Order: sequence, then C-alpha cells, then structure tokens
Amino acid sequence: MAKTVVVGGGIGGCAAALALHRAGADVIIYEAWNLPQAAPELKELGAGINVQAVAVSVLTDLGIPLEKFHAPSEGDAIFTSAVEYFTAEGFFISSEKVGLAAGASQPQLSAHRAKFHSTLLAECLRVLGQEKVILNSRFTQLESFEDHVILHFEKTTTKDPMPPVRCDFAVGADGLKSRVCRALLGDGAPRYTGRMIYRGLCEVEAIHADGCTVSLCGHENGNFICYPISEGMREKGQFLCNWGLCVLRTHPGGEEKWTSEATLEEIREELEEFGGNRFAGLTPLQLAERTEKIIGWSLFDRDPLESFDFGSVTLLGDAAHPLLPYGSQGATQAIMDAEALGVSYQNAMAKGTGIRGCVKEYSDLRCEVTGKVVIANRDMGSTAVLRVAAVETQGMAVDEKRTWCAEHGKRLHDEVIQKYRASMPKSVRAVAER
Ligand SMILES: Cc1cc2nc3c(=O)[nH]c(=O)nc-3n(C[C@H](O)[C@H](O)[C@H](O)COP(=O)(O)OP(=O)(O)OC[C@H]3O[C@@H](n4cnc5c(N)ncnc54)[C@H](O)[C@@H]3O)c2cc1C
Repeated sequence: MAKTVVVGGGIGGCAAALALHRAGADVIIYEAWNLPQAAPELKELGAGINVQAVAVSVLTDLGIPLEKFHAPSEGDAIFTSAVEYFTAEGFFISSEKVGLAAGASQPQLSAHRAKFHSTLLAECLRVLGQEKVILNSRFTQLESFEDHVILHFEKTTTKDPMPPVRCDFAVGADGLKSRVCRALLGDGAPRYTGRMIYRGLCEVEAIHADGCTVSLCGHENGNFICYPISEGMREKGQFLCNWGLCVLRTHPGGEEKWTSEATLEEIREELEEFGGNRFAGLTPLQLAERTEKIIGWSLFDRDPLESFDFGSVTLLGDAAHPLLPYGSQGATQAIMDAEALGVSYQNAMAKGTGIRGCVKEYSDLRCEVTGKVVIANRDMGSTAVLRVAAVETQGMAVDEKRTWCAEHGKRLHDEVIQKYRASMPKSVRAVAER
C-alpha cells in the first residue's frame, strides 16, 4: 500500500484524505495549524461558504451522513433552496433554484466554514485515526525522486524543523498561497484584481424569504451577497446572516487572508447605494451595522496551471486552481478534485500503473476543467447577471428599469446564470455513468 501524504487539512485536504483512504491508500495529513488533536473543532475563522449539491453527493458517498452537516448541534448548515439576484435599487432580476429544489439528489449547503470544516476533520480523525492527522506541521520544501518524495516540515508554533517525511505520493492541498505549488513551480505572480471583498456575520430576529435563500444585489463594480448559515437559528425564525461586499479598490487595501479586520467606515458609502434592497427587513448597511467584526480581503488572480501532473506529487483545491469567489465554487471544486483523485488512485492500483498513473489520470480529469472555472470566475461567474442588467439598463428612468427587469429576467436567467452553471465540471462519477 502506497504511503500518501496530504499537505493541508482544509476542506479539500480532508475530502482528499477520505477519498484516498476509501480507495485503499495509507493516508496521513499534515496540517499547519496548531490545535489539540483531541478537539476536532478548528478556530472560528472564516465565515460562510456554499457547497453545491454535486460536492455534497461526493461527501455522502464517502460515508458522511447528511445530518452531520445539517443538524443544528453539528454542522448547522442550511439546505439552500435558491439564489436570487436584484439590481442596486432593489428590482428583482432573476432567481435560480438550487440543490434539492432544483431536483438534485442532495441539497446545496450554506454553512459556516469552520463548522463545515470541523465535520470533515472529525470524520478524518474517526476514519484515519488521530495518529494520521498531524497538526502544527507547516510544509516548507520537497525533494522529488523517481519513486518517492521527501517532504520537509517545521513546527508552526516554534519553526523548529521536523524529521523529513518519506512517502510514495504527496498531495499539495495547502490552499490559496500553496507552498507545495511554489516548491514545484516557483513563485508565480498573483495579480491584484482591483477588488476587495468585505465580509461579516450578524444576527437578525427574522428570516429572509424562506430562510434558505442566497441573495445578491448590485452591479459589476459593487455587489452585495447575503445568506443564512445556521439551521438552528432558522428553525427559531432567526437569521445568522453571512454577508459580503465586493468593491473596487485601486490599491490593495488589505491582505489576502481571512483575518484582516476592516471598519464599517471603509464601506459605508458603497453599502448606502443598495438601500432599496431589504433582506429580512434590513438594508445591506443595516446588516453591516449589526456586525461586530468585518474582514477585508484583497482579491488576487492567478493563471490556471497547465498540468497537475508532477510525477509523484500533485495539487488539489485552491492550491491547484485558486478561484475568484463567484458562483460558490471554491469548496465545491476542491471536493470534486478529491473525488477524482480517489477514483484515479483506485483505477491506477487496479491497472498496475502506480502513483504516476494515478497522478496522470487525475490531472487529465481535473486540470483543464477547473482551469475553465478559473476563467469563468474572472468574468464574475453567475454574478455576471448583475453586470449585464446594469449595463443594459444604463440611463433608464427608475420605472423603466423596473419594467425592464420584469421583462428580461427570464432571458438573463437562461443566457447568463444557466449558461455559467451548465459550463461547470461534471462529477467524475456522472461522467463515467453517462
Ligand atoms: C482560515 C480560512 C478561512 C476561510 N474562510 C472562508 C470563507 O469564509 N468563505 C469562503 O468562501 N472560503 C473561505 N476559505 C477558503 C475555502 O475554505 C477554500 O477556498 C475552499 O474550501 C477550498 O479548499 P482547500 O482545501 O483547497 O483550501 P483551504 O480550505 O484554504 O485549506 C488549506 C489548508 O492548508 C493549510 N496549510 C496552508 N499552508 C500550509 C503549509 N505550508 N503546510 C501545511 N498546511 C498548510 C491551511 O491551514 C488550511 O487548513 C477559508 C480558508 C481558510 C484557510
């Protein structure tokens, strides 16, 4: 049995470890964070994420019961029913059904990232065993040989070097600023997009719509998203609201990390523009005013890779294809990578093509299709519907705009939203079954 090291125990790394274990690999995770292994509860970092039905299917197929993600006492995720789009003034443009409401076999989840991640990590601890999830271990460098790889780590807390780790197969799942990717390909040069995203969480005493809806409003140069991420609160008629505001900033105002605090004053004016919109009775500005901590994240863009095939090393999730945050694809594509990696491993072992065969098949399955998601997200993904509506209604009087939205919403739904959704990668299993 090949010894496989997954570098990074985030959402993609945990899903990959579970998929590889299921496929017969002897897997060990090294994760940079320093947390007691006995407490599979990661720090409450990050805010909301959406995980699409296709990825939820991968996780339930890996044996994680849906209730683990959904029950208020566990993952507390909402079963998302729809994504609705409004203009900056608050005119309804269109709505798309998602998850179960769209006929999928599993729901789309709107979740707190830390809780969703904790569910995956707990499953890794249960299935692999505590000794196979090594925390406080930051990857620093690798040496790649014909039939093995040597990985170097340091203690994250003290920076003390750890004994080198020899393995047959290494998977870099260490996120957006992947050191494994850098070790393989050099630094690259992420480009600042001219945009920042501000995010926050607040509590509201009422639900919006059916309590399971993602809402967006605005245009290309400023758009606001909000959605509920607590099933427990929804059941009590309340709304744990995860919101985000994406705006133009000529100069990177902050860092590319989930922990840079920002102030309401930085975004007050832009939020005011969306005052015609109400979510659970509150305007975007009122939601932000109820928010204790606002995080500002500068958006950088990276080109798609030409291959994920580095012999006995590969990349997965944000490390392989960092995505701009449109269309809820980050966690979804990382989990679909994990599925493809598990299938490729199983096939390669059955065919006797070994780790190199596995990496080649995985790269063939996922590199090109995820590269297309990177490109599609540069064009705002499904959120592009806000841009198109704003451009096509430019200069119209308010009443004319309202009428235009009512008349053209269906067309924009088909031409922009559905076109984007239809272009997204299919799951490996769905392709095989076809
Ligand atoms: C703290 C945090 C908060 C986030 N919050 C949000 C959010 O609110 N909304 C959202 O949409 N997305 C968020 N994301 C990103 C989102 O989780 C990913 O886009 C998506 O899940 C893809 O998963 P991934 O496994 O590729 O990357 P990630 O989920 O980012 O996981 C990467 C993992 O690798 C670890 N790691 C990094 N460097 C090293 C190293 N040198 N050695 C070992 N381990 C390393 C990290 O600690 C992390 O656990 C967040 C990511 C992080 C790390």
